[in-house]
Amino acid sequence: MKILKFGGTSVGSADRIQSLLDIVNPSERQIVVLSAVAGTTNALVEISSAFLNGKKEEAKELIIDLKEKYEQLIHDLFKTDTGRKQGKELIDYHFNLIASLSNDLFTPTEEKIILAQGELLSTTLWHFHLSEKGIPSVLLPALDFMKIDEDNEPVIPYIKEKLEQLLAQTPDNTLYISQGYICRNAFGEIDNLRRGGSDYTASLIGSAIQADEIQIWTDIDGMHNNDPRVVSTTKPIAELSFDEAAELAYFGAKILHPQSVFPAQRYKVPVRLLNTLDPNAKGTLISERGGPAGTIRAIAAKDGITAIHIHSSRMLLAYGFLRRIFEIFERYKTPIDMITTSEVAVSLTIDNTSNLDDIVREVEDFGRVSVDLDQTIVCVVGDFSANRHGYAARVLDAIKHLPIRMVSYGGSDYNVSILLDNEHKIEALRSLHNRIF
Ligand code: ADP
Ligand code: ASP
Ligand code: MG
Repeated sequence: MKILKFGGTSVGSADRIQSLLDIVNPSERQIVVLSAVAGTTNALVEISSAFLNGKKEEAKELIIDLKEKYEQLIHDLFKTDTGRKQGKELIDYHFNLIASLSNDLFTPTEEKIILAQGELLSTTLWHFHLSEKGIPSVLLPALDFMKIDEDNEPVIPYIKEKLEQLLAQTPDNTLYISQGYICRNAFGEIDNLRRGGSDYTASLIGSAIQADEIQIWTDIDGMHNNDPRVVSTTKPIAELSFDEAAELAYFGAKILHPQSVFPAQRYKVPVRLLNTLDPNAKGTLISERGGPAGTIRAIAAKDGITAIHIHSSRMLLAYGFLRRIFEIFERYKTPIDMITTSEVAVSLTIDNTSNLDDIVREVEDFGRVSVDLDQTIVCVVGDFSANRHGYAARVLDAIKHLPIRMVSYGGSDYNVSILLDNEHKIEALRSLHNRIF
């Protein structure tokens, strides 16, 4: 069985939704995971924030605007009266639900219900479209099997059990459809896997049922060797190892949700990144094997990084110091991305600043603390294991005209990370690209 995930632009218009059948062969056994129609989740975020801020009129207008787009979409998508009627009832149902949440007690729980409507809409619309064309398909409701625990971690054994039960109900069916991004949390409430989470859904489903392959269909022909939004001469990478892909996704390559590689790696399911707009392009294969040894593979950048510098003479010749520092971050459930140390100082970076003030207050017990906001981690990924000398020098040489805040090298065999002020990101990406590729 294969898992095919289509992102927002791949279902972004009636035309695109119709063209899914150019790629999906309904008689092959597969689960198709869909994101919301492009722009929908952003619009739902805006509607929720208007509700949160008590701006009901603004929310109402945003809801009307979004609903109009869907009215046009069903007009273009369906050819029969029955199809149009079904489509109209569907969007009425979802938009009435969204509008009904405008009570005065609008909490993150209501917000998550609103954010879930995009994927519920796109999957049901496609299911109706297929049925209008006489093509059988079965909807697998993600809210019935996709589950996260108290730490927002997916519960794979549960997902596997529920999914297998659902699949067993229709043994002769071949084409299954499910929603990306949405799930239930430990309290049974509607929740989500964070922005871009449909990739993660596909990877979790593929891992849970031990699929043959997970295909991520998007609007570009695979993972490129630099950010195509910043550098104009990027190229697709034919093969990546799971570790390299995870590193790139985590450090900013937006084509993949940061966590989506881990389940596939753990359950050894290959992931292919493919282009809906050019289905015959080779794309990128992510597997245990990876690409040719000893080459630099790609550059990525992750914005919104905060650096915390701790200077303390108590660290000198002491043991247990780092553990106590790390425990503070652990208590506030704040992951650390990069770390560098000297004998009397330690610097580290985080991207989740929701507990920054508390963390800084506690870390101040250990020494002098300073914080840099608006930082960017630029990350160079490749196989540095075979022939170690020269790589770090090439990387640093390419950005020697820029002020570097931190450098991390040697933590793994496939990553050099550099911290800079965000204002230098574009120049760093371009200069590294010119010198390395
Ligand atoms: P989808 O809606 O299909 O999930 P995304 O917008 O999340 O698509 O991801 C695809 C986009 O990721 C591309 O259009 C591209 O601009 C961006 N991107 C950023 N870095 C990379 C990279 N290294 N390789 C490919 N695409 C990248
Ligand atoms: N629709 C969600 C988002 O825009 C999930 C996804 O596209 O992967 O973040
Ligand atoms: Mg995405």
